[in-house]
Amino acid sequence: MEQEAKPALHTSSRNTGKVHAPFIYHPEKKRVWAKAALYGYQFWKNYCEANKIPFEEDGVLEVATDADSAKILSFHLDWGIKNGLNYDEIKLLDQNEVKMIEPHVKCHQAILCKKDASVDYGQITRLLANHFLNNDREVKIATLSKVINIKTDRNLDLPGIIEYQNMDGNAVRQMKFDFLINASGSNALNVMNTTKIEHGYQDLFFLGEYWIAPSKYNNLTRRSIYSIPQFHQFPFLDPHWIIRTNGHREIGPNACPVFSPYGYDKLNNLKEFFPKLYKLTLGEHRINKSILRKEMFNLVATEALSSVSKRYMIKRVKKFLPSIEAKDFTIRGTSGIRANIIDKNGDFISSPIFKLHNNVLHILNYNSPGATGVFPIAYALVFKLVDKGILRYNNNGIEQRKLTNLTPFDEKLIENCRKEIEVEFK
Ligand SMILES: Cc1cc2nc3c(=O)[nH]c(=O)nc-3n(C[C@H](O)[C@H](O)[C@H](O)COP(=O)(O)OP(=O)(O)OC[C@H]3O[C@@H](n4cnc5c(N)ncnc54)[C@H](O)[C@@H]3O)c2cc1C
Repeated sequence: MEQEAKPALHTSSRNTGKVHAPFIYHPEKKRVWAKAALYGYQFWKNYCEANKIPFEEDGVLEVATDADSAKILSFHLDWGIKNGLNYDEIKLLDQNEVKMIEPHVKCHQAILCKKDASVDYGQITRLLANHFLNNDREVKIATLSKVINIKTDRNLDLPGIIEYQNMDGNAVRQMKFDFLINASGSNALNVMNTTKIEHGYQDLFFLGEYWIAPSKYNNLTRRSIYSIPQFHQFPFLDPHWIIRTNGHREIGPNACPVFSPYGYDKLNNLKEFFPKLYKLTLGEHRINKSILRKEMFNLVATEALSSVSKRYMIKRVKKFLPSIEAKDFTIRGTSGIRANIIDKNGDFISSPIFKLHNNVLHILNYNSPGATGVFPIAYALVFKLVDKGILRYNNNGIEQRKLTNLTPFDEKLIENCRKEIEVEFK
């Protein structure tokens, strides 16, 4: 069920478009993301090549602009290898070596990772949806259908009921289900709250904005450039220099606080400010501690400033690409919103949350590298649901074959996801 007229109009079409290499994820603390990124790369490469759509293996440079942040590069190199990258896919470069491959980049040290690619996730998500619709008569996508309520029972033999609103006529309808997956992106916690289950989560929304570079900067670098994040205790990267598959070069994203999953414009944000404040401080799932601690305050101030001031945002990238000028950036790119889940203490949760309640699986906090890792995570979830006896294959195993025959997916890769991605149901 999709509330919009077609799939992937929100975050999946409003992101940086990178198939992320796994070197920025801690091998233990972020194991799910690390493995999902490692195997996700091969899934998307197979899929894009089979369907003749762009999968640019352009690689990435992660730069440290001073000796202090260079220390983090050594960790990232180590994590990359531990997470399964080969020695010929990732290496540490000094400033002279960087100058030889990217003469316009200024830094102290950098990591060059070849296994990082650019795609258009909106395009491939819609292509994938069409593949299912055209090849499998049992798959339907109900567009313009907004889920407004979910009712379930502890007795799993009883079907659940979805209430949904038809967005063209506004009529409210009902539908029964045996099993439901709530994968509604930044809106997932709101959807989960309709089931009235107890939990200790709140969500904070952050708008990632972009600026499109003029074409005179098209040959400035050969690859996308990231820097070591200023606020590495939070799950965001700093604005980077991005190479898009459509040929654009862009700067972004920042992470400006907004107050709703769709707060793309200022008016919508203003409207949502007080309801959100109420939810955080007085509502049923309010958090105990103030989230406006010193680090959080610094983050909010920096990111809000880079939203208000183009110059400030571009200055963050100018640190490692000194030849760019803020005045040359006149067109905004497409911004996207991430919903970060915080716990009762106001602490950010960095991994995705899979909450199984009665016959509904809720997917929360599904942020970057969510698009990269979507196949590995989806396989891991389905295998787990099968192992728990909640889903089952037909007697002749048809469901599994359908998934694998749709595109040239590699059986070995799928087996790796089953064995190595340990998704935990809360
Ligand atoms: C700025 C930014 C940059 C990013 N860059 C990258 C990147 O480079 N690489 C990467 O791997 N990841 C990246 N990510 C993360 C990645 O984009 C997301 O993890 C992924 O797109 C999430 O997909 P989703 O299907 O969960 O959410 P969405 O794409 O938002 O899809 C959710 C869908 O649910 C629908 N929906 C919501 N509520 C309802 C309802 N009540 N009824 C019916 N339908 C509903 C929505 O309309 C939407 O179509 C980025 C994220 C952001 C915000």
